[in-house]
Amino acid sequence: MTANKECSAKYDPETLPDFLPIYYKRLFPYWPYYRWLNYGGVPKTYFTQREFSFTLKDDIYIRYQSFSDQQELEKEMQKRCPYKIDIGAVYTHRPKDHKTVKAAAFQAKEKELVFDIDMTDYDDVRSCCQGADICHLCWPLMTIAIKIIDRSLRDDFGFEHLLWVYSGRRGVHCWVCDEAARKLSQNARSAIAEYLSVVKGGENQTKKVVLHDSVHPSIKLALDIVESHFQDYAVKKQKFLDTDEKCLKVLALIPDETTRTMLEEVLLNDDNAKGVATRWKAIKEAIGDLRGKSEKRNCHSCVEEIMLQYAYPRLDVNVSKGVNHLLKSPFCIHPKTGRVCVPIDVKNIDKFDPLAVPTISQLVDELNKTENKTEGEQDQGKKGKDYRRTSMHQPVQVFEAFVQNLEASWKGKLIHESDMKKDF
Ligand SMILES: [Zn+2]
Repeated sequence: MTANKECSAKYDPETLPDFLPIYYKRLFPYWPYYRWLNYGGVPKTYFTQREFSFTLKDDIYIRYQSFSDQQELEKEMQKRCPYKIDIGAVYTHRPKDHKTVKAAAFQAKEKELVFDIDMTDYDDVRSCCQGADICHLCWPLMTIAIKIIDRSLRDDFGFEHLLWVYSGRRGVHCWVCDEAARKLSQNARSAIAEYLSVVKGGENQTKKVVLHDSVHPSIKLALDIVESHFQDYAVKKQKFLDTDEKCLKVLALIPDETTRTMLEEVLLNDDNAKGVATRWKAIKEAIGDLRGKSEKRNCHSCVEEIMLQYAYPRLDVNVSKGVNHLLKSPFCIHPKTGRVCVPIDVKNIDKFDPLAVPTISQLVDELNKTENKTEGEQDQGKKGKDYRRTSMHQPVQVFEAFVQNLEASWKGKLIHESDMKKDF
């Protein structure tokens, strides 16, 4: 049944130009999308001064687009059928008029604080796939990343309105939409991104995580999350110690030479230490033996450092730093996979399956099938609700819940403000 369904709806990138008009006309959730980016119309120019950029067929890229209202946005999207939509900053002027304003006066003012986590940045610590590919064996890396970043943004920074989105192919994005987050300066954004960066150094750096003697409470909590996944993810799924090569890679992270050489001997030559779980246990025990020895201080947190290097979120900090940095919009279609960039329900993050995210061809197929069944009963005037008959229903519900939470915060604020006025 499942195989059949996948087969009938298999995505072919060639079909994208045929499907996009249907998607933009009948499935894209304009209403909650507009309500999100309009932020309750406070200030009124928030939506109209927002930059959108479209990537059209044949990589034609148009920046600095802006729209006066939902209707205009809808019309343009249906007319141009973009292969990709990026959302940029809210500017001092309408982006579409930027040529009529002096360059120095046209400035990016505000934007959500955003995070971009991409599976390609984990290529040195995953063995199932490389590059743009993902599978069920490496996806837990994204689950762990979302749990750690989400916890920190809420508890350490007090943000509440976080929209997590699957990028459609190999990663996830986070949009922090609280007013305080949207107003952050470039420096403050950099500071937050740095605070969340624990894995440091590029390809040429072997040991990328070094913990201080007293581990920061936020990193301790991140470690709890990593630890709770490590057995299933690293040991079972990735089998991160099942070959000599993989063993040597892990052992290279142990600064104490005597311990490293001893472990090399055991892991590579001892027939009784062949399984991944056995090897990992041997490493943990050997490092545990160093604890309390003051001359081996640099090894005390080595087990934790290994786990963090293998599973702590790797952020593309440049995306977070710039106020004017563009990020792919939720509900875009990834042209290569055909998958919708769907919002992720963080409360059920362990159940999120990127490979089950609907593709545009599947959605059109679902639309056609239900249409045939209910022919004659459909009210033509209710086209906007078409998504409910497709697999878009659940992602739109997640998005709607997010927007409603945002709206509740403005309403709370408005009530509070009117109460204040009454008091005077
Ligand atoms: Zn994989």
